[in-house]
Amino acid sequence: MPADPDCIFCKILAGELPSTIVDEDERTVSFMDINPGTRGHALVIPREHAKDLLEISPEDLAACSQAAQRLARKASENLGATGVNLVNSCGAAAWQTVFHFHMHVIPRYENDPLQLPWIPKPGDPDEIKAAGEDLKR
Ligand code: AMP
Ligand code: ZN
Repeated sequence: MPADPDCIFCKILAGELPSTIVDEDERTVSFMDINPGTRGHALVIPREHAKDLLEISPEDLAACSQAAQRLARKASENLGATGVNLVNSCGAAAWQTVFHFHMHVIPRYENDPLQLPWIPKPGDPDEIKAAGEDLKR
Protein backbone atom coordinates (compact mmCIF):
# COMPACT_ATOMS: atom_id res chain seq x y z
CA MET A 1 0.00 0.00 0.00
CA PRO A 2 1.41 3.43 -0.87
CA ALA A 3 1.82 5.77 2.13
CA ASP A 4 -0.16 8.43 0.28
CA PRO A 5 -2.61 6.77 -2.14
CA ASP A 6 -2.81 9.91 -4.29
CA CYS A 7 0.96 10.23 -4.71
CA ILE A 8 2.54 8.75 -7.83
CA PHE A 9 5.96 8.53 -6.22
CA CYS A 10 4.53 6.66 -3.23
CA LYS A 11 3.00 4.29 -5.79
CA ILE A 12 6.43 3.82 -7.37
CA LEU A 13 7.84 3.08 -3.91
CA ALA A 14 5.07 0.54 -3.32
CA GLY A 15 5.78 -1.13 -6.68
CA GLU A 16 2.33 -0.19 -7.98
CA LEU A 17 3.78 1.87 -10.85
CA PRO A 18 6.72 0.80 -13.00
CA SER A 19 10.07 2.53 -12.65
CA THR A 20 13.71 2.03 -13.51
CA ILE A 21 15.41 2.10 -10.12
CA VAL A 22 19.08 3.05 -10.20
CA ASP A 23 20.02 3.50 -6.54
CA GLU A 24 18.52 2.58 -3.16
CA ASP A 25 19.37 2.87 0.50
CA GLU A 26 17.57 2.78 3.83
CA ARG A 27 16.03 6.22 3.37
CA THR A 28 15.99 6.86 -0.39
CA VAL A 29 15.14 5.42 -3.80
CA SER A 30 16.36 6.86 -7.10
CA PHE A 31 14.80 6.12 -10.47
CA MET A 32 14.90 7.39 -14.03
CA ASP A 33 12.75 10.40 -14.97
CA ILE A 34 10.36 9.44 -17.78
CA ASN A 35 10.74 12.91 -19.35
CA PRO A 36 14.51 13.26 -19.29
CA GLY A 37 16.13 16.64 -19.81
CA THR A 38 19.34 14.88 -20.77
CA ARG A 39 20.55 11.29 -20.99
CA GLY A 40 20.64 9.79 -17.48
CA HIS A 41 18.22 12.24 -15.79
CA ALA A 42 17.19 10.61 -12.50
CA LEU A 43 15.10 11.53 -9.48
CA VAL A 44 16.04 10.90 -5.85
CA ILE A 45 13.15 10.59 -3.40
CA PRO A 46 12.82 9.81 0.29
CA ARG A 47 10.98 6.59 1.14
CA GLU A 48 8.92 8.55 3.65
CA HIS A 49 6.40 10.84 1.97
CA ALA A 50 7.14 14.56 2.46
CA LYS A 51 5.63 17.01 0.06
CA ASP A 52 8.56 19.34 -0.45
CA LEU A 53 11.80 20.91 0.76
CA LEU A 54 10.03 22.60 3.65
CA GLU A 55 8.48 19.37 4.90
CA ILE A 56 11.24 16.78 4.44
CA SER A 57 13.20 15.85 7.57
CA PRO A 58 16.83 16.98 7.78
CA GLU A 59 17.90 13.33 7.94
CA ASP A 60 16.04 12.43 4.75
CA LEU A 61 17.30 15.57 3.04
CA ALA A 62 20.87 14.63 3.92
CA ALA A 63 20.29 11.07 2.65
CA CYS A 64 18.82 12.41 -0.62
CA SER A 65 21.83 14.69 -1.07
CA GLN A 66 24.20 11.78 -0.58
CA ALA A 67 22.25 9.66 -3.07
CA ALA A 68 22.39 12.56 -5.53
CA GLN A 69 26.16 12.70 -5.10
CA ARG A 70 26.43 8.95 -5.81
CA LEU A 71 24.42 9.41 -9.00
CA ALA A 72 26.46 12.44 -10.04
CA ARG A 73 29.60 10.31 -9.76
CA LYS A 74 27.99 7.53 -11.82
CA ALA A 75 26.89 10.05 -14.44
CA SER A 76 30.47 11.18 -14.77
CA GLU A 77 32.06 7.73 -14.65
CA ASN A 78 29.50 5.68 -16.61
CA LEU A 79 27.79 8.16 -18.92
CA GLY A 80 30.64 10.52 -19.64
CA ALA A 81 28.80 13.55 -18.24
CA THR A 82 31.07 16.55 -17.85
CA GLY A 83 28.73 18.30 -15.41
CA VAL A 84 25.63 17.73 -13.29
CA ASN A 85 22.75 19.93 -12.15
CA LEU A 86 20.84 19.15 -8.98
CA VAL A 87 17.39 20.70 -9.19
CA ASN A 88 14.67 20.83 -6.59
CA SER A 89 11.40 22.63 -7.18
CA CYS A 90 9.60 23.57 -3.98
CA GLY A 91 6.04 24.71 -4.56
CA ALA A 92 3.95 25.24 -7.65
CA ALA A 93 5.45 28.72 -8.12
CA ALA A 94 8.83 27.01 -8.45
CA TRP A 95 7.46 24.55 -11.07
CA GLN A 96 6.93 21.62 -8.67
CA THR A 97 4.43 19.26 -10.28
CA VAL A 98 4.78 16.12 -8.15
CA PHE A 99 4.29 16.81 -4.46
CA HIS A 100 6.58 14.16 -3.01
CA PHE A 101 10.01 15.70 -2.44
CA HIS A 102 12.46 14.86 -5.20
CA MET A 103 15.84 15.99 -6.33
CA HIS A 104 16.52 15.94 -10.05
CA VAL A 105 20.00 14.71 -10.90
CA ILE A 106 20.61 15.93 -14.44
CA PRO A 107 23.83 14.89 -16.15
CA ARG A 108 25.23 17.64 -18.33
CA TYR A 109 27.17 17.31 -21.57
CA GLU A 110 29.03 19.80 -23.69
CA ASN A 111 26.53 21.38 -26.09
CA ASP A 112 23.46 19.71 -24.56
CA PRO A 113 20.23 21.66 -25.11
CA LEU A 114 19.56 22.84 -21.54
CA GLN A 115 19.70 26.55 -20.70
CA LEU A 116 19.67 28.64 -17.54
CA PRO A 117 16.04 29.45 -16.73
CA TRP A 118 16.87 33.08 -15.91
CA ILE A 119 18.91 35.77 -17.62
CA PRO A 120 21.70 36.87 -15.25
CA LYS A 121 21.93 40.65 -15.02
CA PRO A 122 23.19 42.90 -12.22
CA GLY A 123 20.57 43.76 -9.58
CA ASP A 124 20.24 46.93 -7.54
CA PRO A 125 22.90 46.59 -4.78
CA ASP A 126 20.71 48.22 -2.10
CA GLU A 127 17.80 45.93 -2.91
CA ILE A 128 20.10 42.87 -2.89
CA LYS A 129 21.36 43.93 0.55
CA ALA A 130 17.80 44.54 1.80
CA ALA A 131 16.71 41.11 0.56
CA GLY A 132 19.71 39.59 2.35
CA GLU A 133 18.74 41.35 5.57
CA ASP A 134 15.16 40.09 5.23
CA LEU A 135 16.46 36.56 4.68
CA LYS A 136 18.67 36.74 7.76
CA ARG A 137 15.85 37.85 10.07
P1 AMP B 1 8.84 18.45 -10.79
O1 AMP B 1 8.17 19.12 -11.97
O2 AMP B 1 10.10 19.11 -10.33
O3 AMP B 1 7.84 18.24 -9.67
O4 AMP B 1 9.32 17.04 -11.32
C1 AMP B 1 8.48 15.94 -11.46
C2 AMP B 1 9.21 15.00 -12.38
O5 AMP B 1 8.64 13.73 -12.24
C3 AMP B 1 9.11 15.38 -13.86
O6 AMP B 1 10.42 15.58 -14.39
C4 AMP B 1 8.42 14.18 -14.49
O7 AMP B 1 8.94 13.86 -15.75
C5 AMP B 1 8.73 13.09 -13.50
N1 AMP B 1 7.76 12.00 -13.47
C6 AMP B 1 6.42 12.09 -13.41
N2 AMP B 1 5.87 10.86 -13.36
C7 AMP B 1 6.89 9.98 -13.39
C8 AMP B 1 6.98 8.56 -13.37
N3 AMP B 1 5.88 7.78 -13.31
N4 AMP B 1 8.20 7.99 -13.42
C9 AMP B 1 9.31 8.75 -13.48
N5 AMP B 1 9.30 10.10 -13.50
C10 AMP B 1 8.11 10.70 -13.46
ZN1 ZN C 1 4.52 10.28 -1.83
